[in-house]
Amino acid sequence: MKVLLLNPPAPRLCLRDYFCAESAKADYLWPPLDLLVLSGLLAEGFEVEVLDALAEGLDEAQAASRIERASPDAVVALAAGFRLDADMAFLARARGRRPFRLVVSGDVPRAQPAWFLERYPEADGVLMDFADPSVAEYLRGGKGVPAVRVRGPGPAPPALGGPLSYPLPRHERFPLARYRLPLLAPAGTPITCLLTALGCPFSCGYCSFPSLPYRLRPMGEVLDEWAALLRLGVGGVFVRDLSFGPGPERIHAFCEGVRAADRPLPWTCEVRLDLLDEASLTAMKGAGCACLLFGLENLDPAPLERLGRRVDAGRLRRLALHCRHIGLPTLGHYILGLPGQSLGSEWVNVVRACAFPVDYMAFNRFVPRLGAALRGAGPAGPDLDLDVSTGRASLRWILAAASLLFYAHPRRALRLVRLLGPGGLTAQAAHLWKRTIAPPW
Ligand code: SF4
Repeated sequence: MKVLLLNPPAPRLCLRDYFCAESAKADYLWPPLDLLVLSGLLAEGFEVEVLDALAEGLDEAQAASRIERASPDAVVALAAGFRLDADMAFLARARGRRPFRLVVSGDVPRAQPAWFLERYPEADGVLMDFADPSVAEYLRGGKGVPAVRVRGPGPAPPALGGPLSYPLPRHERFPLARYRLPLLAPAGTPITCLLTALGCPFSCGYCSFPSLPYRLRPMGEVLDEWAALLRLGVGGVFVRDLSFGPGPERIHAFCEGVRAADRPLPWTCEVRLDLLDEASLTAMKGAGCACLLFGLENLDPAPLERLGRRVDAGRLRRLALHCRHIGLPTLGHYILGLPGQSLGSEWVNVVRACAFPVDYMAFNRFVPRLGAALRGAGPAGPDLDLDVSTGRASLRWILAAASLLFYAHPRRALRLVRLLGPGGLTAQAAHLWKRTIAPPW
């Protein structure tokens, strides 16, 4: 039985993996984590083929021909909530040319499986957990498995959970050199993703990840995958944990294992910076961490606290300065447009963000994820406003202006030029411009 793991084409760069979709804020793209994990999980017992049409720059006609040529019995495809009709229309057309069983993985499908399956009859199932081995059982014809939700009545599937362990993902089947993450490695370097934990142990009210059971992967398995990536010649790894660590013990275990490997390999990760300490940061730098990504969220404490998230700006500043001291570059994620913030306070916020000691800043629009406590599971519909990077709001101009103001600082501008080079800088500027003026998806 042949299974095709598919990232469909799109007119602009976007990320659809890990049940969290958004358009790319700059010219970056990483291998879809869901498909990577499935490539290992399904390799035993299935013939697995991978098509990342987005990374390969295929248009719809080219991608559809490749699917037809692959002739799969089943397709596991990603779909983004903010362009769900378009993604599903493409999949329906592909399925019309050559029938296959279709399982969809995405933010809206997972948050609203019953609504999704009713609206899109071309989908047979919704992926609820890409690391659960019962996906294979479903593809073999099994029913009532926890990893895949299907339409119609029937007994409730067993609860998800259990230990996180899966066979080595087949990174080599992905077009690794087509992915790019300038903060990790120069363009053209093969990069990939790795997971040490699934889900997140925290519960911010605007985030949907608390609905995914939090599970740790055995560190030995993680380091075995690291060794395999070295053998494969990968030049950079994005550790896709939602909150790497988060405690010092696992951070030190990972860093020691990585330091003991044959050669250094740059990596990056997302952290809750407020939960780290100086010793962990120094260990990460020593183990080859190329850039630390963290949610600065917003430096106006009141609106954030109303959303159930506290940020200790003083502690964050101290730790960010420590990163600067040890030469570990940092990128903050900043959220604008929190409920209760006026246009005037947005600008105060932008000034606050620009004064914070990080090297890079990504400005996002506040959008509670579907399935987050603040938003609930619905209502769903084709007009969902879900893209934190652009969306329809006029705030996109503030997002663009905030980025320009942040990088107008000579030290940051110089760092950016050094990182990207003139060609890369032009590509990023062009991406920012297109993203700002582009019509909604
Ligand atoms: S916002 Fe970050 S820390 Fe909070 S629940 Fe989501 S992933 Fe976890």
